[in-house]
This record gives sequence, C-alpha cells and structure tokens, in this order.
Amino acid sequence: MQKHDQDFIRRKNRSTVFELIKNSAPLSRAELARLTSMSPTTISRIVSELFDKDFIHEIEYVTTGVGRKAVMLQAKPESVLSIGVEIDITNSRIGVVDLDGKVIRSKQIEIDIGESPEVTLLRIAQGIKELMEHDYIDPRKVVGIGVGLPGIIDYENGTALLSAQLGWKQLDVAGMLQKLTGLDVVVDNELKVKALAEHLYGAARGSNNSVLIGFGSGVGSSIIIDGEIYRGETNSAGEIGHIVVDPNGLLCKCGKVGCLQTYIAEASLIEQSNKVKPISTLDELFLAKREGEYWAANIVDRAMTFIAVTISNIACMYNPSTVILSGKLVEKFPEVKEFIAEKCMQHFVWEPLKGTFQIQYSTLEDDGVVIGSSLLAQSQFLNIDKQFEKAVQTDSNH
Ligand SMILES: [Zn+2]
Repeated sequence: MQKHDQDFIRRKNRSTVFELIKNSAPLSRAELARLTSMSPTTISRIVSELFDKDFIHEIEYVTTGVGRKAVMLQAKPESVLSIGVEIDITNSRIGVVDLDGKVIRSKQIEIDIGESPEVTLLRIAQGIKELMEHDYIDPRKVVGIGVGLPGIIDYENGTALLSAQLGWKQLDVAGMLQKLTGLDVVVDNELKVKALAEHLYGAARGSNNSVLIGFGSGVGSSIIIDGEIYRGETNSAGEIGHIVVDPNGLLCKCGKVGCLQTYIAEASLIEQSNKVKPISTLDELFLAKREGEYWAANIVDRAMTFIAVTISNIACMYNPSTVILSGKLVEKFPEVKEFIAEKCMQHFVWEPLKGTFQIQYSTLEDDGVVIGSSLLAQSQFLNIDKQFEKAVQTDSNH
C-alpha cells in the first residue's frame, strides 16, 4: 500500500471513531472495536490521538446489575464549537454553541428597519468577531456559522430567495457572511432550525416525528420525519401560512384570498382590530377581550378556532408524536393555552388521532434558532481531520 493510501485510511478511521464517540457515547474501547471492526490496537492508537488533542475524555461508568465500573469514552463538548445566528425583523442574536448544543456565550444586535442587508450582515460579522475574541473562545475550535432567518431559503446555496419580513430578495447570505468572516456558512429557514434544536435538545427530544408550528409575524411550520428535517422539493415544506382556509375570505399579503395567516398572524389580528379600535399589540387586543369588548372577543375566538384547525390538520397530515407550539400568540396568553389543551384536543382533533400526540411548548425559547442553526453548521462543516490539523499546527508553533 502506498503512503498516500495509508494516510487516507488512517484519517478515515479516525473520523469514524470520533463520529461514533460523539453520537453514541458513552462507549468503551471494546465497543468501538466491535462497532467499527477495527483491531483493538488501531482503536487504542486513535483513542490516544484524540486524547492528546483534547477531543475526548474518559468517564467511569457503573454498568447495571453487577455494579462493575467500566471506563467509557465521551467527546468533550467544548472541543468543537460553532456560531449560531438568528436574524429577525428588529434584532439579531448570535451565540457560540458547543457539541452538546449549549450556548457558551451570546450577544444581541439591534437591526434598524431601514438598513440595507449589507449593513446588517456587516454588523453581524462584527458581532461574531467580538464574541470570538473573548478569552475563553478558542477560534481554532469554531467549525463554521449557521444562520436562521424567516423566509424561503435556498438551503443548498445559502441564498435567501425571499424574506418578506426582512425585505430581502435573492440575497447570497452565505457568500456575503463567508467573505466577511472567513468561516463556512450555512443558511436555513428559522423554523426549520428551531425544530431541529427542539428535536435534539428541547421539547421534542426522543420523538422521531414532530412538527413545530410557529405563530408570529406569519404562520409556518417545520416537520421532522424520522429524525430529519423534511424540506420538500424547494425547502418550502411546512409553509402552512398560505394554505387556503376560506376561498371567500380575507386578502392575504401574498395576493391570494383566504390564506390561513390572514386569520392568525399577529399583524393580521392587529389590522382587523384597527377596523374598530386603534391598537398596536396583541396585549391590547387580549386586554380588550378581557374587558368584554365584543369585537375583540370575536377576533380572538376566530383566531383560536383557526389555531385548533391548524393543529388538527397537521396531525392528520403527518401523524406526529409531538406538536411543538411557538410564538407569542400561543405561549403568552393563558386563555389560548387553555383553549388548546381542552377544546382543541377534544373537539377538533380527529377521533382516531386523539391521544396519539402531545402538545408541547418550546423549551429552548429565545435560544432555539441560535442552537438549531449552529448545530446545522456542525453537522455540515465538522471535519475532525481539519480540526485535528489545526490543533497539531498550533501545537508545533509553540
Ligand atoms: Zn397568502
């Protein structure tokens, strides 16, 4: 065998072993040998390399029954980091996230509604730089950046095709941010990455089929099937805000008549309210309802009915085990939560599906998009070989 081929196999084996430790830990050396069909000598050489460069550590693990202690291996969460960025209408949240999906450090940047996308991305890039300059972030460990934003995203090319919320169109977000930071960048729809985060570390942990429904400036959903984000042909699967629920209904911003979001999106509810009384927030609408104002009760009741319709339609369509609800409208007002827990589950859900799924509320809250997009960056860009070389180079510089 030539030297080149030997090197290749060595590196491939190392990456196989690290992936296994990262995804299926804790594992013993013997289990690694069995799972990879590599010899115990090879395993022990790779394990000591990974130890040397601080990618893994040993833990003592008491096996059940006999109570014998075994030495198991685990990846060090902080040995690999990535940056997660959430871009929303009024602000951007940036976080440094480790292998376990933990946000180590984060910061928030305000976005001016009138600024150009170039300016927004430049300010985000500066924010990333500031975060990475911090003492306990080792830039060598950062494998890339993940960005989550509202809109239709060409996930493969990192382009925001259309974000009505941000006013972005055909924007090469990945390319621009890559140029500004020098790091690899992956871009996705915010709800898709949020669902991924809830699936891996939040409300839908342990559930293989889950749907996250976001009620915000628009209405959207994100579907996890067999543990993977379901994207559809153009990464638009789950854009339920534009499902027509009444062909004779209200005109939607998209130009169609009777889209679901005209009945439940925040802006829509406020617009409807303004036909009767000038208000500017959901809180004012709910306050008016609580004070017995007839128009407010009508708008809220209709919105709750459509929330129930949405949940039951999603259940019929995907048969999930978990439905995660996120957004101010469903999370903040107790009357809505109560309606969903009782009336929705009793009267709107199709009989055979009753009891087959649970309703959850997002547990990662404000960090969901940051965690999800950074995990996406890890799954896309983590290459143990590259990380290993970076570690070796710096060591030899010392
Ligand atoms: Zn529409």
